[in-house]
Amino acid sequence: MGMRLYDTARGEVVPFEPGPTASIYVCGITPYDATHLGHAFTYLTFDLVVRRLEDLGHEVRMIRNVTDVDDSILGKARELDVDYLDLAAREMDLFHADLAALDLRPATAEPTATGSIDGILDLIGRLEANGHTYTVDGNTFFDVSTWDGFGSLTGLDEATMLEYAAERGGHPDDPRQRNPLDFVLWQASAKDEPSWDSPFGPGRPGWHIECSTMAMAELGETIDLHGGGDDLTFPHHECEAAQSWAATGAPLARHWMHVGMVAYEGTKMSKSLGNLVFVRNLRRMHDPRAIRLALMAHHYRDGFEWFDYNIDDAITRLDRLIAAARRAKGPNPAPTLAAVRAALDDDLDTATARQAIDLLAGGILSGSGDDPTAASGLATAAALLGVRLDATLPESWVRTT
Ligand SMILES: [Zn+2]
Repeated sequence: MGMRLYDTARGEVVPFEPGPTASIYVCGITPYDATHLGHAFTYLTFDLVVRRLEDLGHEVRMIRNVTDVDDSILGKARELDVDYLDLAAREMDLFHADLAALDLRPATAEPTATGSIDGILDLIGRLEANGHTYTVDGNTFFDVSTWDGFGSLTGLDEATMLEYAAERGGHPDDPRQRNPLDFVLWQASAKDEPSWDSPFGPGRPGWHIECSTMAMAELGETIDLHGGGDDLTFPHHECEAAQSWAATGAPLARHWMHVGMVAYEGTKMSKSLGNLVFVRNLRRMHDPRAIRLALMAHHYRDGFEWFDYNIDDAITRLDRLIAAARRAKGPNPAPTLAAVRAALDDDLDTATARQAIDLLAGGILSGSGDDPTAASGLATAAALLGVRLDATLPESWVRTT
């Protein structure tokens, strides 16, 4: 028995059975603003997958890219009048500090778009050789009419694809495109933007091509698991899937995993509404383990609303876990360990896993049982969820207030 996870492409929960080394590619951030709770929920989800795979004996290679050149970061750098790479470096430091505070496993490697230009140009060259591209005014596009499988990852109808493309970084109304769903692989840079020489003219990469390039460079042509936030399904991952397969003749990923969006007290959380809940602010006020426990109340596929009081309930839970882990005896912890593993294997059912450790903690605190391994068993079960109950906190958890 191993893990079963929902696969976006198949639309059902299926066995997830990587080989001894599991290859995972998770789409990273564009480093131009602080980490918010939506990022934390996404990366926590993949952290739990990594932990359970390691518990099952797999070695895990998890790659998370850095989109260090795109419209958002160039716009923000222009606004702040700083170099875009300096902005990226500064924001990546903050991102790493937030992730370390939440005790999220570091990525095996974090390639950058600007460090992958040669590979990106090589991949576009293969697509051109296979007849999937055209170039207009220094912009090279992927021609979706040349790829029958376009749309098969998400199964969306054309109207929805057009709507999402317009909302999420695409330009369906660009008159240079033959089809509104075509997407840019290489684009001419504006005067003040960075530019690289290429066979397609000077310019910079499109968004989707960088992830195909970095995933394949780090993990090979077909990887075990590819994922990210739910808003990346279309166009980002659909485009990645199409161009990768069109270039190599092999599917990019065996399994696609997507994480629901986090809203804030009844409203979509968004930069433009100014209601982003930043991890930095939360962890300044609260033990980061409580943030993990609070997020684990929700199934990863379900979007949910965050309320400020959610953290209070999680702090109460954490305090009980810590108190129980200090007791000398309690119930036999073996059924709890089995229950946590079974819950994680069942499409990452974190709420049930969390309930199982709460029950054991309750048993220990109520004085039932005289098993001397109860507390250490509780600590092991909590560690499967990335919640350390040992007394020593990692250096990175030192608050930065
Ligand atoms: Zn990506």
